[in-house]
Amino acid sequence: MTTDQSETARTGTDVVLEARGVTKHFPLRRTARDLLARERRSVHAVDDVSLRLRRGTVTALVGESGSGKSTVARLLAQLHPLTSGEIRLGGTPTVAGRGRSFRRYVRRVQLIFQDPFASLNPVHTVRYHLTRALKIHGRAGSGQEELERALTDLLNRVQLTPAHQYLDKFPHELSGGQRQRVAIARALGADPQVLLADEPVSMLDVSIRLGVLNLLRDLKERLHLAILYITHDIASARYFADTTLVMYAGRIVEGGDSETVTQRPAHPYTQLLIASAPDPDRVAAEADREETGTGEPPSLIAPPAGCRFHPRCPKAMERCRTELPPRFDLADGQWAACWLYEGQGVRSYGNEDAGAKPYGTEGTAAREASR
Ligand code: SF4
Repeated sequence: MTTDQSETARTGTDVVLEARGVTKHFPLRRTARDLLARERRSVHAVDDVSLRLRRGTVTALVGESGSGKSTVARLLAQLHPLTSGEIRLGGTPTVAGRGRSFRRYVRRVQLIFQDPFASLNPVHTVRYHLTRALKIHGRAGSGQEELERALTDLLNRVQLTPAHQYLDKFPHELSGGQRQRVAIARALGADPQVLLADEPVSMLDVSIRLGVLNLLRDLKERLHLAILYITHDIASARYFADTTLVMYAGRIVEGGDSETVTQRPAHPYTQLLIASAPDPDRVAAEADREETGTGEPPSLIAPPAGCRFHPRCPKAMERCRTELPPRFDLADGQWAACWLYEGQGVRSYGNEDAGAKPYGTEGTAAREASR
């Protein structure tokens, strides 16, 4: 039995990391006006987000800049405390805290940043970065020979071979793609179960993006990693992810398997994202845009009541302005939080892939409606 199989047998599930009703509001500094009005304003970065990351699968979290998807990654990495909700690791509610307990957490959950140049210290070599990661996580072995073997193994895993050609290089001597591979190798130094990849290819040249995505897919299959792939590029989610979740203004609005969500998008916002993606085959792009809506994402300091997408939605109805749509389960595991599917879909507050209560409780809906 492999480690993954025994872990699955122990926990009775292949879900490694789970967010349940996770909410994060960042308080704003109070101005004189706030003090007079006795207001406490905050940025509603993430509201009531639930998702599950499973062994050996990639889950894409797609949305425009400012939709809150990177904040979700940071919350799952426990870099910020939650305003409310819960993070479960291996089925157990977990607060990483600081010091040793945080180190235990990051041994299992690793974050890969968007900019590989900023995430590597320019005055240190690849050998330094990887040795440090191995030592911190107690995987450096008991002597120089074992350490060299572990370093070579890490570079082989990210296909930087022969390893000796890379070990003593500084970040500026590597290409963007090679730097991101070193950052991935450093994350693998902890022997994690989960990789949270925050826009891992968006800073790279188009020609090398595919190579890094293929590497992550290969790691998912060989090491049975659960990967969260944060991206604004819905086309790459179709290529790379098993499951796709779509995020708008701090909330997840649609989910399902990637093929279905990208080929038959149900939520008007997902339709807008797909219509906005460059596609040489699409004719009458402007006509598409009129059908799918335009405009800018709303302010997250005072997000719109009801459905947050209603100011941009070409299909908005009166109730969309006041009532938060719950989730409606459609065919083939797809779901959408949109009033258009009332009567067609089954109203629900949780499923296998997206986790329990994606839109929280009726209480949350009532609070939104009365805002
Ligand atoms: Fe548009 Fe209403 Fe659906 Fe929101 S709930 S996406 S406003 S139709």
